[in-house]
Amino acid sequence: MLKKLLFTFVLLIYSLGVMAESQLTTTFPTESYVIGKTNNGCISGAQALPLQGDGYVVVHLERRRHYGHPLLIQTLQTLAKQAQQQQISVLQIGDLGQARGGALPFGHRSHQSGLDADIWFNLKANSYTNANKQRSNIKQFSMLNPKGKGLNTRWTNQHRTLLELAAKIVEVDRIFVNPSIKHDLCETVIGNREWLRKIRPWYHHDKHFHIRLRCPESSPDCIKQTPIPAGEGCDASLAWWFKKHKASGSIKKKSRQPKACQVLLAD
Ligand SMILES: [Zn+2]
Repeated sequence: MLKKLLFTFVLLIYSLGVMAESQLTTTFPTESYVIGKTNNGCISGAQALPLQGDGYVVVHLERRRHYGHPLLIQTLQTLAKQAQQQQISVLQIGDLGQARGGALPFGHRSHQSGLDADIWFNLKANSYTNANKQRSNIKQFSMLNPKGKGLNTRWTNQHRTLLELAAKIVEVDRIFVNPSIKHDLCETVIGNREWLRKIRPWYHHDKHFHIRLRCPESSPDCIKQTPIPAGEGCDASLAWWFKKHKASGSIKKKSRQPKACQVLLAD
């Protein structure tokens, strides 16, 4: 009896393992389309970002979060090439999403529908060359000044250029950065400032920035985000971040997963 129980238990654990594994590593083989929202959704027909390419490397390979909509893959590759042309060092690409999207076990609420990607602010040449095989031991540095306000000396013009390049890619809907980074851009960017609109202040995001694409036209079940307000965003909405206030990230109510995602993620 005990043996049988044990066997059932092992089988259960094994099948759970296989299930989790398949969700993590096999895409759902269809045309690519996004379902739901970035913080409650999934993706069918995701594409894997090659683990390295012109001007970039993917980091933390053990997380297997290098999947996304083909437009996201293209965007990252384009950005890396453009950065290379500007003599910006090899980009370190962090999390995109899982092979079929869905909620991540740790680290983010979004990154669920194949439209989000994190790019680290580590731009020092060769800062990844001593990394281990999974590139999981690269140190990430904050751009914030630990004493008082503002940014530290790691922050350079290259970071500003990189954000400008990213914001000017049409498919990019918005980019999340730390409020101090947005503030720096508001203070320093001259000439065409239209792209500042896409740069959105948000909690953390001082070691990496986060790009999010708009819903692809070929994904009718992709739920659009509230449009970003008009203007550069260098106004009271930015000043708010530097006043004392309670963190507003408390809307923890879990919405039900879209039906199509339940199917996709259960396979
Ligand atoms: Zn992110």
